[in-house]
Amino acid sequence: MRYDYFHYTELDRKFYEEHLKDRIPHEFIDCHTHINLMEHLVDVPKERIADDWALQSGMHMSADDAKFYYDTFFPDQKWNIVAFPFPIREAHLEENNEYVAKCADEGKIAYGLMSIKPDYSLEYIERELTTKRFSGVKPYPDMVSGKKGAEISIFQFMPHDQLKLMEKLHMPIVMHLPRAGRMPDDNNIKELKEIRQKYPELKMVIAHLGRCFTPYFFKQAVEKMGEDIHGFYFDTAAVLNPEVHRMALEKLSHKKILFGTDIPIFLWHGRRKWTETSYINLAREDFMWNKHHESKEIEAGYTFYVYEQINNLLNEMERANLSRKETEDIFCNNAKEVFNRKI
Ligand SMILES: [Zn+2]
Repeated sequence: MRYDYFHYTELDRKFYEEHLKDRIPHEFIDCHTHINLMEHLVDVPKERIADDWALQSGMHMSADDAKFYYDTFFPDQKWNIVAFPFPIREAHLEENNEYVAKCADEGKIAYGLMSIKPDYSLEYIERELTTKRFSGVKPYPDMVSGKKGAEISIFQFMPHDQLKLMEKLHMPIVMHLPRAGRMPDDNNIKELKEIRQKYPELKMVIAHLGRCFTPYFFKQAVEKMGEDIHGFYFDTAAVLNPEVHRMALEKLSHKKILFGTDIPIFLWHGRRKWTETSYINLAREDFMWNKHHESKEIEAGYTFYVYEQINNLLNEMERANLSRKETEDIFCNNAKEVFNRKI
């Protein structure tokens, strides 16, 4: 099912040609996307969706839909995606995982990750990962608590024996951190350092730059992590804030940053504004969550959120004097290094 609200306009085309077409590397990989079929999400309760702006924005996307959206967004690029199910407790995860692996097998997506639950046995996970075309796993706090930013431990939704198995199999993990305090929460810091120490060979990509959507959080995360921060990869999914991009490029090695979007959540036109500790989504489309903070005239000038995100990131890369090769690492090569199967 494609979203009716998805519209490519003349203004988008101009923005793309002016700001993105020749600046995004010719080949790129979006490291953070969700794919599924309608039937995988039929049992997600309406209240869950009513409570979550992201799911309201976009939760359905098959690999074929993805092709349509990405071909529309990026007509001149050779794009590819790393895709996984929406890891929602009520989703039909096993079927959705199966679908992801099949799409990877058929070459519809470059890399597919398996969503895992804490109660999956090690035997089951190992068998799935080694016999099907998965390139890593995606645990998620939702498997333990449906509340966003729930005060739970990483080890509750990804137990130690699963972490150990991933280290043994050389399979990367895309980790969405828990807790309202985001990455710099003292318990998150403690647990991440513990992971570094206990599983030194483990490849972990911390999603959404640690859910640090404003510099306030990212700055603290960097300070508290110290040298250990260099033991992790980070994806840029959903992060629009240029100051966060700037800080990430300053503080992290360009070899540890992976470009990502979180499509299909972001198929709409809009941008963000920020307070010190939170963000407000500004969108043209009429979502349940949209309070239309700006006038119709201003909204008419919005381009895609994803275009704004990429443009901000490219601006900061230029400001940081990244070479073409370093830019390509972030948009493409790092993803290949992380997700290429070793087994
Ligand atoms: Zn996501």
